Amino acid sequence: MPVSFATRFAPSPTGLLHLGHAFSALTAWEAAKVADGQFLLRIEDTDRTRARPEYEAAIFEDLAWLGLSWPEPVWRQSERVGVYSGALERLGDLGLTYPCRCTRADIRAALSAPQEGSNNTVYPGTCRGRSMSECAPGDAIRLDLGRALSLLGDQTLTWRETGAAHAGTHALDEEAMQSGIGDVVLGRKDIGVAAYHLSVVVDDAAQGITHVIRGEDLLGATPIHRLLQALLDLPVPVWHHHALIRDEAGKRLAKRNDACAIRTYREAGRPPEEVREMVGVERVIGG
Ligand code: GLU
Repeated sequence: MPVSFATRFAPSPTGLLHLGHAFSALTAWEAAKVADGQFLLRIEDTDRTRARPEYEAAIFEDLAWLGLSWPEPVWRQSERVGVYSGALERLGDLGLTYPCRCTRADIRAALSAPQEGSNNTVYPGTCRGRSMSECAPGDAIRLDLGRALSLLGDQTLTWRETGAAHAGTHALDEEAMQSGIGDVVLGRKDIGVAAYHLSVVVDDAAQGITHVIRGEDLLGATPIHRLLQALLDLPVPVWHHHALIRDEAGKRLAKRNDACAIRTYREAGRPPEEVREMVGVERVIGG
C-alpha cells in the first residue's frame, strides 16, 4: 500500500549544504514525522560538470549530524538516465520535443532583437519545427510548449500549494507559461542527460512522493512540472514552497558562502541542536 505522506529532500551535490538547506531538510523531516510518513533523501547529480563526490559525502555527513536519517539505498539521478531517456522518448513520440543547436550566444542575440522584450529570457524558438530525426550530437532537446499546451485541449490543470505565501489551488496559466517559461530544455539525447525539470518529475512519481517540500525559489518551476506530469500520466503531489533563509543583508544564502555552511558550525564544535534551533522549521499542512 502506498504511504499516505511521503516527502523528500533533493539536494544537488555542487557545494556544501548551508543553513537554508538545513531548514529545508528539517522542514520536510518534521512534516513526515508529524504525518507518520516517509522522508527520503535523493541526490540530484544530473549536472555532471558541477557535481562532486566529496559534496555528496558531505550531504550524508551533515544531514546525519543534524539528526536526520533516511531509507537506503539513496537514489542518485546519475544512475537513472535510462529512465529519463524513456520519458524523453515518450514526449518525443507525442511530437512534443525538438532538437536545439542554439548556443547561449545565439539565444542572447535572438532575444536582443528589437521586437523582443528586453528582459525576456525565454527561448525564442529558433529551432522549433526541427524534427527529432535531425537530432545531432550536442543538441539539446526542448519541449515544444505550444504543442504541449494544445494537446491538453479544454483540460485545465490544477494543483494544490500549501506554502503560506501562495497557499491555495493553482491553475495552469497558459499565457504566463508561454511568456515566462517557454520551450524548456529537457535533456541531451547523445549523452543521455536529463535536465532538472524532467528528472525531478519522473523521480518524484517513481518514489511515490505525495508532498514536494522545497524552497520558494522553485515556485516558478511548478507549472512546468505539473504540465510534464499530465503529459507523462504521472500522479500529482501537493507542493509546499517554504520561505528562504536570508543573510543579514537580506540576500539568499548561496553554496559559495562557507560562513553559513552546516559544516562550519560542525567543525567549530557547535552542537547540532543549536543549528536545529537556530533555523527552526516551517509547519506543513498535512504534515
Ligand atoms: N535539486 C534541487 C536543488 O538542489 C532541488 C529540487 C527540488 O526540490 O525540486 O535546488
